[in-house]
Amino acid sequence: MPDTRLELLIADVVAKFAEKYASDPDIVVAAPGRVNLIGEHIDYNDGFVLPMAIERYTVIAAKVDPQNEATATLYSVDMDEQADISLVDPVKKENSHWSNYVTGVVDGMVKGKGFSIPGFQAVAKSNVPIGGGLSSSASLEVATATLIEAITGQTIAKVDKGLVCQKAEHDFAGVPCGIMDQFSSVLCESDHVLLLDCRDQSFQQIPFSNPDIVVLIINSEVKHELSGGEYAQRRAQCEEALEILGAESYRDVTLQQLQQKKDDFDEVVYHRAHHVVTEIARTVKTAEAMKKNAWQTVGELMYASHASLRDDFEVSCKELDVLVDIASKTDGVIGARMTGGGFGGCIVALVQGNKADSISDSICREYEEQTGVKPSAFMTRPGQGAHVIQS
Ligand code: ADP
Ligand code: MG
Repeated sequence: MPDTRLELLIADVVAKFAEKYASDPDIVVAAPGRVNLIGEHIDYNDGFVLPMAIERYTVIAAKVDPQNEATATLYSVDMDEQADISLVDPVKKENSHWSNYVTGVVDGMVKGKGFSIPGFQAVAKSNVPIGGGLSSSASLEVATATLIEAITGQTIAKVDKGLVCQKAEHDFAGVPCGIMDQFSSVLCESDHVLLLDCRDQSFQQIPFSNPDIVVLIINSEVKHELSGGEYAQRRAQCEEALEILGAESYRDVTLQQLQQKKDDFDEVVYHRAHHVVTEIARTVKTAEAMKKNAWQTVGELMYASHASLRDDFEVSCKELDVLVDIASKTDGVIGARMTGGGFGGCIVALVQGNKADSISDSICREYEEQTGVKPSAFMTRPGQGAHVIQS
């Protein structure tokens, strides 16, 4: 089915390009954001994640500019700002400027992969919510890498492209992320989810074959600022537990082994490890259940994941719990859970497509009644990984 929303976005970007540079672009590329269906807070514990691309993209249109050999001029419609980026000696800007995501990828392609990029003019626009936990940053990076490939006519292996973009996020944006966001934007395929092994970076495409099921993403529109360095603390607790277990990796730990050693643990640390071990198992089971079209099982695993993040890992919050609770009582919802780092942000739910609009409306209405906060929601099927639209 054609993605009319993407087509409109492309038309918008092309029109903006013509307005800014008084000519038509030669090249147009798109790269999606992503949502993680299950496998939360285990990417840094050698676990699995199960993301899919969302049908929301960053689109970049560009044209080689022979007048301007060593510079890329990029206008972001979303930021309403133009940035000039050196293609020979890319320099990071201060104050977490948005162009750093692009500059970092240029740097990785030029210095890391030996690309020689001709000067170009470009316009970028995204319909991935920016800063909403659906990885607009990775979609901008991966769109940039895909654009550089199309401009130069050279490509690199998809996994390497993901790694270049991850490095850009680390070194130029200062975000020490795992591999999920960039790998998803590069590797995901429509009608599939990606089972990604964060230990060895291997992956499998898992069919999301039932066309009658759609993914509903609801943003709680809250983000609790926590002063306690919660993320670093969780990581430290996970490491401490692994040491007590005497294991190298959580992949070598069974639930039974953990339970047998329970008395050696501080209670909180035990619960953290309990989440990790059970979430790894749930993520693998979810992929297996999807392969068999066992959607009820998938739904149960999503609810169990949420409960584990709430009770064992303690990274949920009242608003996310309210959303999942309402979803679980709504007819036509197969499963739901918080997604992302937690303490706010989005939930992801699997719902019956023919009822999706009314399900979305009723969950949002009830959430607003209970919390006084107006949420935002959208539906998606698995989108398509980064691709060239025109070159
Ligand atoms: P998320 O990836 O969850 O959307 P991040 O905070 O990781 O949130 O990334 C958001 C940042 O990425 C923005 O503040 C901006 O710097 C950059 N960014 C994302 N999309 C665009 C865009 N279309 N144009 C310019 N900058 C963008
Ligand atoms: Mg991001």
